[in-house]
Amino acid sequence: MKIAIDGPAGAGKSTIARLLARKTGYIYIDTGAMYRALTWKALQNNININSGEDLERLARETKIEFQYSLEDQKTICDGRDVSQEIRSPEVNAAVSVVAAYSGIRSIMVKLQQQMARNHSVVMDGRDIGECVLPDADYKFYLTASIEERARRRQKELLASGYDAEYDDIKNEIVARDLNDASREVGALKVLPDSIVIDTSECHVGEVLDKMLEIMKGT
Ligand code: C5P
Repeated sequence: MKIAIDGPAGAGKSTIARLLARKTGYIYIDTGAMYRALTWKALQNNININSGEDLERLARETKIEFQYSLEDQKTICDGRDVSQEIRSPEVNAAVSVVAAYSGIRSIMVKLQQQMARNHSVVMDGRDIGECVLPDADYKFYLTASIEERARRRQKELLASGYDAEYDDIKNEIVARDLNDASREVGALKVLPDSIVIDTSECHVGEVLDKMLEIMKGT
C-alpha cells in the first residue's frame, strides 16, 4: 500500500502522515526532512546554494536515513541526528532553493522510491503523487489558509525554542510556496486524481478520520 500526501507548508501533512502511519502500521517517510538535511549540510559547509553542481556533488556524498522508534522518527545525516537542526529558520529560508534543482530532485526521488520499494508507506512532500509514487493507492492533497498555516508553524517553532514573529513566518511560507509551486520539475500542484482536504477548520483527528473513511470506502 502506498499513500501519498502532498500540499503546501504548514498544512498539517507531517502530523497527519505520522498518525496515519501509526494507525495503519505503514512506514512514514518525511521527504521534506531529506531536502532539509541536505540544505543543513550545505549551510554547515558553506556550499553555495546557488550552484546546482556543487549541491549535486554534496548530495552524492551525503547519506540521509531515518531511524524509527515507537515515539518518533529521527533524521540522520552522515550518521548524525539532525532532527532538530533541520527545522531552523536558516534551513526554512534556503530549502526551497536547494529543492528546485532538477539534479537534486532526481537523486532524492530515487532514494525515496528505494525506501518505498519493499514496504507499505505513507509519504509526504510536494511531488509524491506526481513523481515519487505515481501509482500510489491514494493521493491526498492537504491544504489550509495561509493564516492558519503560519499560526501552526509559529507554534512549532516556538515549541522548538526558536524566536518566531508571525509576519516573518507568513512571508517565509508564502515565498517557499511560490518557489515550490513554480519550479520546472516536481512542482507542488493538485493532480487530477488528488483527494483535496482543507484542514483549516479541522482538528487533526477529524482529518485522520476522513482519510481512513475514504480508504475504507474504496
Ligand atoms: O515538508 P517540508 O516543509 O518539511 O519541506 C521543506 C521543503 O522541502 C519544501 O518547502 C520544499 O521546498 C522541499 N520539498 C520538496 N519536495 C518534497 C518535499 C519537500 O521540494 N517532496
